[in-house]
Amino acid sequence: MQLRCILINPWIYDFAATNMWSRPLGLLRVAEYLSQFDLDFRLIDCTDVVKTKRKFGTGKYPRQIIEKPETIRTIHKNYARYGISLEDFEEKLRSSLPYDFVIVTSIMSYWYPGVQKAIEIIKSVSPGIPVILGGIYATLYHKHASENSGADYIYRGHIKSPFLRHRHPSAADSSRQVKEELKGDICSGRGIEKIFKDFGLCLNKNNNPRPYYKLGLYRHFPFSTVLTGSGCPFNCSYCASSVLFNGFVQREPSHINLEIQELYEIGVRDFAFYDDALLANADSHLKVVLRNVIKADLRIRFHCPNGVHARFVDDEIAYLMKRSGFKTLRLGLETVDKARQTGTGGKVTTDILESAVKNLKKHDFTKEQVGVYLMYGLPGQGLEEVKEGIEFLKALNLKINLTEFSPVPGTICWDELKKKGIVTDNIDPLLTNNSIFTNLYSGYDPDALEKLKLDVKQYNNS
Ligand code: SF4
Repeated sequence: MQLRCILINPWIYDFAATNMWSRPLGLLRVAEYLSQFDLDFRLIDCTDVVKTKRKFGTGKYPRQIIEKPETIRTIHKNYARYGISLEDFEEKLRSSLPYDFVIVTSIMSYWYPGVQKAIEIIKSVSPGIPVILGGIYATLYHKHASENSGADYIYRGHIKSPFLRHRHPSAADSSRQVKEELKGDICSGRGIEKIFKDFGLCLNKNNNPRPYYKLGLYRHFPFSTVLTGSGCPFNCSYCASSVLFNGFVQREPSHINLEIQELYEIGVRDFAFYDDALLANADSHLKVVLRNVIKADLRIRFHCPNGVHARFVDDEIAYLMKRSGFKTLRLGLETVDKARQTGTGGKVTTDILESAVKNLKKHDFTKEQVGVYLMYGLPGQGLEEVKEGIEFLKALNLKINLTEFSPVPGTICWDELKKKGIVTDNIDPLLTNNSIFTNLYSGYDPDALEKLKLDVKQYNNS
C-alpha cells in the first residue's frame, strides 16, 4: 500500500515578521528527495498566506498576538504567531487523514514555539503517527529539540536531493581549494530511508526525482525562491553558513536556467535567490545564467534578500544583473572598522564595497534597489562604530539595512560569548532572537540605539 506523508512548515513565532519571498527551502528539498519513492505527500505551509500584498510578491502575514513564553516575559513588545490560524492548521491536518508519518521543518531556532505547537496539534489529531523534525533549529539545537519539541526523531543536517546535481566550484580553482570545498557533508545525518525503516515504514523507489514546483505542493506562486548553490567559501565568525553546510558547491547553470524557464512558463515573474554566495565563480556560474535569461528575453524580476559579496561585483556582472531584471540587491558590509572586517573573516573591505557600488551605479542601480547590511551588537562592537558605518553609507547614497547580531552555536562569535559567560550551550534559543539579544547583552544605551534606528529609517525614506 502506498504510504502517505505530511510535510509541515510551522508558524513564525516572533516580535515581527514580513514575507520577503520566504519559502521553507530545506523542506522543499526533502519533498524533491521523497518524490523518487512510491509516496503520496502533502505540504501544509503555515506561512503560505498574506494579509496585505506588497510589491514583487512580498506581503504581510496575518498574525495572532499571543502570550510570551516565560523566558522573554519581560520584553515590552508584542509577540505573535505569524501565518494561518490554529483552526485552519488543524482542519488541514484532519482533512489529510489518514497519513503514515509527518515531517516538520524548523527555520530560525528562536521560532521553536511554532514547532512545538505544530507537533502538539499533530499528536492530538493523529496520536501514534511518527513525527520527524529537521531543519535549522533541529540541527543547531539538537539537544534542546530532543528535549522540548515533542518529535519522535530529530534529524540533524540536511539531505542530499538527487535532483540537485552539483559541480565543482570552478575549473580555475586550485585543486586544493576544490578538495576543501567538496569535502562538505552534502548528505549528512542518517539516511532518511533508514529512519523510516526504524519506524517500520518501507520506502520503495519508483520514480525519477521531480523539482518541488512539479509536485503540486503550492497552489499559487506569487514568487519563487532559487538556490544556485549551497554553502559559502568564506567563514565569517558570526555566520551559520559553515555550521549548516560544511563546504561550497554550485549547480550547473543549465539546470538553473531550466528551473527559471519552467517556473516562468507557469507564470512566475519574481525570483528570489537564497544563496549565501551567489556571485562566487560568476564567470562560469551566474554570468552564464543571466546571459541565458537575457537571450531568452524573459521579462522577470530578480531579488537578493541575502547579501551578495561586494568583491565579486565587477562591471560585467553589474551590467548583466541590470539587463536581466535585478530589482532588489543587498551587499554585505556589516562594519567599517578595518580590524573587525579582517577579524570576522575578511569577506569585504570598505574599498571593495566602494568599487562594487561604483560598478552598480554605472549601470543605473538606485538607492531604492541597493541596500547594504550593517550590523550592530557584534561582540565588542561599540555604537560609535555603527554610527560611522551609517555616515559612510549615507555618503554613498545607498539604502542602509541595519541588522542585529544574533549568536549561533558553532560559530567563533558563539565561543567568544561563551568564554565571557554571556551564552551557554544550554541557553534557551528564545534569548538569541535578534530582536532582543542586542537589547539584553550589548550594553548599548537603549535610547541612543533607538535614535540611531530612527535616523536610519528617516534616511532610507528620504
Ligand atoms: S560571506 Fe556571508 S554567507 Fe559567507 S560566511 Fe560570511 S556572512 Fe556567511
